[in-house]
Amino acid sequence: MAAEIIDGKAIAQAVRDEVRDKVTAMRAKTGKAPGLAVVLVGERKDSQTYVRSKKKACEEAGIESFGTDLPEDATEEEVLAVVAAYNADPNVHGILVQLPMPKHINEERVLGAIDYEKDVDGFHPLNIGRLSQRGREPLFVPCTPRGCIELLERTGIPIAGKEAVVVGRSNVVGTPAALLLQRRDATVTIVHSRTPNPEEICRRADIVIAACGQMEMVKGSWLKPGCAVIDVGINAKDDPSKKRGYRLVGDVEYDSAAEVAGHITPVPGGVGPMTIAILLQNTLEGAERAFGP
Ligand code: NDP
Repeated sequence: MAAEIIDGKAIAQAVRDEVRDKVTAMRAKTGKAPGLAVVLVGERKDSQTYVRSKKKACEEAGIESFGTDLPEDATEEEVLAVVAAYNADPNVHGILVQLPMPKHINEERVLGAIDYEKDVDGFHPLNIGRLSQRGREPLFVPCTPRGCIELLERTGIPIAGKEAVVVGRSNVVGTPAALLLQRRDATVTIVHSRTPNPEEICRRADIVIAACGQMEMVKGSWLKPGCAVIDVGINAKDDPSKKRGYRLVGDVEYDSAAEVAGHITPVPGGVGPMTIAILLQNTLEGAERAFGP
């Protein structure tokens, strides 16, 4: 049996269309639009590409985009001053500091300085804290893990009462993904680099979210037949048949996994497109809170 492919591109486009329609309605009703500010420190090419595509996505959705690029040697005080200015700007409803930042800047301090009501990445301790508490609602949820859940829900894959395994426990993906699954009443196990028997644990799962940054680690033989596999990983694998000499693969060995799973996300075209779509959705929700019902 070949798994059904979860088309992240199509689902992300549906989310982006919904956001664009809501932004159009907001402009018509209030004369105002959501605003997203992106702060980039340094000259990393990959970060510059991500920031460019975030700005383009904002434009397409009718979201105002603001941006500040600081040099590699910017001081922490300079970064904090930019964050403070966006915190005070009523036209900005979401502030995103592109990670990773240069080593001399304390990431925790900068992320903690973002007004939690504009914390569109959902990394502020108050938002993560609320995410982890029963009966509390975070204002924002990190984009990539929220995108994973949207993929499951919009594909009609049940979560409540199911057994879910998240491979990876980073603050950005694994841990918030596990918290989101638990909030939706899955029974969740987290596998990490010190877990001695990851295969055995994964084989129990109805839902596997792989976010370990290890190329093609999760094999078909690790999976329970019919399970849903969400592959967050993005890894460059040497491939001389490609013009650029490599192709992108996930943290799951796609071919063997697709033979066993019931549903699977491809790489690219799975989780990747969802991250930006959810960023737009988070920004819109920030603006909706700011402008009132
Ligand atoms: P990190 O490197 O921050 O975290 C990796 C996690 O995986 C850690 O918790 C680590 O465990 C765990 N891990 C590492 N090796 C193993 C192993 N052999 N077995 C089990 N667990 C292991 O990565 P991120 O969470 O930031 O990203 C994960 C993947 O997702 C990467 O491939 C990244 O490129 C991709 N990504 C994709 C995004 C998208 O938009 N599609 C967005 C963000 C990330 P420990 O805690 O013990 O060290």
